[in-house]
Amino acid sequence: ARKFFIGGNWKCNGTLEEVKKIVTMLNEAEVPSENVVEVVVSPPFVFLPLVESLLRPDFQLAAQNCWVRKGGAFTGEISAEMLVNLGIPWVIIGHSERRSLLNESNEFVGDKVAYALSVGLKVIACIGETLQQRESGSTMAVVAAQTKAIADKVSNWANVVLAYEPVWAIGTGKVATPRQAQEVHLELRKWLHDSVGAEVAATTRIIYGGSVNGANCKELAAQPDIDGFLVGGASLKPEFVDIIRSLT
Ligand code: 13P
Repeated sequence: ARKFFIGGNWKCNGTLEEVKKIVTMLNEAEVPSENVVEVVVSPPFVFLPLVESLLRPDFQLAAQNCWVRKGGAFTGEISAEMLVNLGIPWVIIGHSERRSLLNESNEFVGDKVAYALSVGLKVIACIGETLQQRESGSTMAVVAAQTKAIADKVSNWANVVLAYEPVWAIGTGKVATPRQAQEVHLELRKWLHDSVGAEVAATTRIIYGGSVNGANCKELAAQPDIDGFLVGGASLKPEFVDIIRSLT
């Protein structure tokens, strides 16, 4: 069985005061056991040590990015080794905001995922099509190419969570319908089955992201191939707790 996975991507948001408030809210929340739901929150880099020191032990942390290989003379970057050194278990890689605003290519994302895994990080790898790509009927070709660029460089998928985040649904309030999301998740699972292997297809969590909120999470969570969520805006609000509880 695939354990339900809830990620909270805070993106580039928060002051010290706001971060402390969010952590207090999370620490006081009544949620299912970590054996039932895996919860991973992802503050900006600069807040990681603070959040790590305050956050309840049954929730885990993710960075929102890392450098593509070993650290060194790469001004402004944060290496995967540094995250390991700080005890940060997870990293988000290939978010659409980085792909589109910072021109991260499929190959670069694949290299990053492989490197992060090689030093012992767990990876939330993001894929997803734009509105134009969906309307032209190329959704599956796009997400398959994005996934293939990862699969080309990764042999062990045990520490990978695949996040399907249609770009048109991110931050827009336009959530994919449960049917639209389930359709892509099922196709992705078939792709993994045919291109990587039956075991990887059966065990890899495929989570959905894009305008998930407290009101739409339950119906999405009920879809057989949706194994959790990557939540942006709503992860900064009390309704994140409702999303963590969406299976109950
Ligand atoms: P929103 O939930 O704000 O649409 O963002 C989704 C996302 O990009 C999570 O990584």
